[in-house]
Amino acid sequence: PTMAHSKALLVLENFIGGKFVPCSSYIDSYNPSTGDVYCRVPDSGKEQVEDAVKAAKDAFPIWSSKSPLERSQILNKLADLIEQDLEAFAQAESKDQGKTITFARTVDIPRAVHNFRFFASSILHHVTECTEMPTMGCVHYTSRAPVGVAGLISPWNLPLYLLTWKIAPAIACGNTVVAKPSEMTSVTAWMMCKLLDKAGVPPGVVNVVFGTGAKAGEALVCHPDVPLISFTGSTLTAQRITEKSAPHCKRLSLELGGKNPAIIFDDADLSQCIPTTVRSSFANQGEICLCTSRIFVQRGIYSEFLQKFVAEAKKWKTGNPSDPTIDVGALISKEHLEKVRNYVKKAQAEGARVLCGEGVDRLALPPGNQKGYFMLPTVIAEVKDESCCMQEEIFGPVTCVVAFDTEEEVIKRANGVKYGLAATVWSRDVGRVHRVAHRLQSGLVWTNCWLVRDLNLPFGGMKASGIGREGARDSYEFFTEVKTITIKH
Ligand code: NAD
Repeated sequence: PTMAHSKALLVLENFIGGKFVPCSSYIDSYNPSTGDVYCRVPDSGKEQVEDAVKAAKDAFPIWSSKSPLERSQILNKLADLIEQDLEAFAQAESKDQGKTITFARTVDIPRAVHNFRFFASSILHHVTECTEMPTMGCVHYTSRAPVGVAGLISPWNLPLYLLTWKIAPAIACGNTVVAKPSEMTSVTAWMMCKLLDKAGVPPGVVNVVFGTGAKAGEALVCHPDVPLISFTGSTLTAQRITEKSAPHCKRLSLELGGKNPAIIFDDADLSQCIPTTVRSSFANQGEICLCTSRIFVQRGIYSEFLQKFVAEAKKWKTGNPSDPTIDVGALISKEHLEKVRNYVKKAQAEGARVLCGEGVDRLALPPGNQKGYFMLPTVIAEVKDESCCMQEEIFGPVTCVVAFDTEEEVIKRANGVKYGLAATVWSRDVGRVHRVAHRLQSGLVWTNCWLVRDLNLPFGGMKASGIGREGARDSYEFFTEVKTITIKH
């Protein structure tokens, strides 16, 4: 691993069979807060994926025959090592992704650590099933075994957090893995590889191949010796992965995009609801699949809500992500920033009102960040439900606020998009909260809170937001093959 080359660029290498391996060609990676190229990422393809899959296949017999307790101890050790380097990981994640150092310190890296600890623990507590058939003289029981080489593909918004959410359960269950992080945010995965040996992860159990989706990602998806793919990313890419993996009948877990509603009834506790909804709209620059982007407010409190919500959104400071007082960092890329800005322009052209942020308020940036990909938290009102801003995933610091009258009406409108990932409901009426939660087409429903997660329980989306669930039991089921055995006595 090197800090080399003329301009002291950070140069990453693939991690295959326990060794760092250079690649023949590289992709530039940008620092989103300055617009400078600062890192070179291997541009891997079929050949590198082939080597990684071979290393993973070779490591499988030994790793899969270890006891859950042995694997658990290794995962815990890895968690400790990442935690010891938490600050370095957080700095790297912030620089690579554009997110604020505060978010990386308090959310991304602690959660990556927790992912390993959580699955290190949960793998020790699964039970299989057993039934009896006395009249036949039989008992039946199930047994579960790891599947083989798991292909893991992750996005750029929560780089190490989402990658470890896949690696941890996959290897805890006894699989070996080939992981492909996003080409835009590869640094923390590479840093983690440096700790694997020390943690006791045998060579070949975790292989990381860097590169683009089209080359490295697709080579992994199409590899005949990778029977299962866990993917987090956009719905469009998931469609392509589904097509490409179909000839091999692969097992797929797909965690995709969202267009998440917040439904705010007139009895909501606004003192809680407003700061939480600002956070759910703008945390991590709005680049979280669970972020709120359609806010339905009951008509009686609509103007009060709007005025207070905009005032609260304006408190969020945008600027240099390495400044710990900053709330909003840079978006991932120039192209993405352009795309997000265009949504605001389209809304304006349709007659919607931009209440704060893009095009309305002045964005003042420090001299070193003038070329960064920044955008102010933007609130749009009076957007039509059929507008692209209310239908498509924007994945930036933009949220739309609209009024509604009745419970029946708002459920219909909230469900009126192709996605179904996460919804929030704000009301002090317990009966209503239950009724609405049951009728929302959404894999997760938070009431009177946001982003409170118990990793034991299923996580995932409905409709275009995904297929399958991950969590203690769900990940265990996904990453193992079950067998039913019948014994006649
Ligand atoms: P993306 O789909 O462009 O890329 C995700 C990953 O897939 C990257 O590693 C990419 O290189 C790879 N990839 C791209 N094309 C591929 C192909 N043809 N074959 C194999 N791999 C390919 O998504 P993104 O822009 O990196 O991430 C943002 C998206 O991820 C948003 O839609 C967001 O909602 C979604 N997301 C979902 C969740 C969830 O848990 N549901 C979490 C975070 C992000």
